[in-house]
Amino acid sequence: MTVNGTNGTINGAAANGNGPSVKDRLKNNRAKRIVDAAAAGGYAIPAVCCYTLEAVIATVRAAEAKKSPALIQLFPWAIEYADGLLLHAAAEAADKASVPIGVHMDHAQSPEIVRRAADLGGFDGIMLDMSHYEEEENLRLTKELVEYCNARGIITEAEPGRINGVEDGITDTGDMDEILTTPVQAEKFVACGIDWLAPAFGNVHGVYGPKGPQLRFDLLEQVRAQVGDRVRLVLHGAHEDYFQEELLRKCIDAGMAKANINGPVAAAWTKVQGELSGKVSLTTLVEKQTKAMQDVVEYHCDFLKSTGKAA
Ligand SMILES: [Zn+2]
Repeated sequence: MTVNGTNGTINGAAANGNGPSVKDRLKNNRAKRIVDAAAAGGYAIPAVCCYTLEAVIATVRAAEAKKSPALIQLFPWAIEYADGLLLHAAAEAADKASVPIGVHMDHAQSPEIVRRAADLGGFDGIMLDMSHYEEEENLRLTKELVEYCNARGIITEAEPGRINGVEDGITDTGDMDEILTTPVQAEKFVACGIDWLAPAFGNVHGVYGPKGPQLRFDLLEQVRAQVGDRVRLVLHGAHEDYFQEELLRKCIDAGMAKANINGPVAAAWTKVQGELSGKVSLTTLVEKQTKAMQDVVEYHCDFLKSTGKAA
């Protein structure tokens, strides 16, 4: 079976209690290696939110065409909808790709879904998004779930503060207060043993207000100074309506080593659906949808400077 990827060995080795520590073993985790290399190389990894098999295929094809590493991201919805089927297809696609690709769960918002996802095998990373809990409970759950995931060879991401807005597949936090990430808060999450930190510095999911993104790069710089190289910084809320090449490059310069790409990829799928549904054969429709999503991922590889980095 290929579905365990790097996880199977690590999980197996963890069981006997001997050998290198969990954190040492996680050094071979492919998602961690991909994003570590990006941080060291001054570029960012496109982390593509996939809702369908076509999106998984489009991500891999784009990464191979651009010689770029990439991450396939699934929301908990994918597990609720299809149990491990899309996950295991994504893991197999990542295993077989000619460039480094990892599989990551985005915004796992309950301890139950984190454990279920980790137990399925196939995820290299999971984002532990407990941001709808108060800070103390958020930290307690994050620490507990980091241990659960690490024991299964899975690295973790967390969100100190709260990035507001709406994304397909996650709980709407629009009626809750946005909480910007402070260096003190960031430190508490790093102490939980996370690998990636998603700071809230004015970024929001989906649609920004009339003034567009009002990003606090001063705050981001303070958070970066606090956490140093103990974790990688990752970017949420970088919709292409607001984040074109220039702003993405500015975020990379500020330390971002992974950028989530969601809305534009899904929009490419639905646009082709609207234009061609009923007018062409189903096979042609599916192929054109895949190609449209591939194109979006490809130009994001250029924006994020990951093009050529797998060569
Ligand atoms: Zn997000």
